[in-house]
Amino acid sequence: MPLNIMTLSRVDMPVSQAEGLKILERDQYCCRYCGLDGKASFENALVMSVDFVVPRARKGKKDPANLVACCRPCNTIKGTRVYKSFEDAKKYVLDKREEMRRNWEANRMRPAARAASAQPA
Ligand SMILES: [Zn+2]
Repeated sequence: MPLNIMTLSRVDMPVSQAEGLKILERDQYCCRYCGLDGKASFENALVMSVDFVVPRARKGKKDPANLVACCRPCNTIKGTRVYKSFEDAKKYVLDKREEMRRNWEANRMRPAARAASAQPA
């Protein structure tokens, strides 16, 4: 088994370990939103989870059709909004990740640029 079952038991989710594993195996341990490969490393395995496409808080069913493998960052970004479809949710998550990446890169570049301009010629 490529994934330590303990990583699942620490996730607060209303599906059993057996149910969760079934979903992860169906989705080959890859996040259905960003494609993160949960089998690629221990760090990746640690963040794999199972997501309710329609959140439980919005009466989403505990049904394989409503469950997808999902990394925790994507799960956090997706939140408890309701989307028209899985494709809609995926688009939102990926757009948001891209926006966050751009902000992160902009903030990361700034101090370096400042340091470079402060250097004597
Ligand atoms: Zn993801």
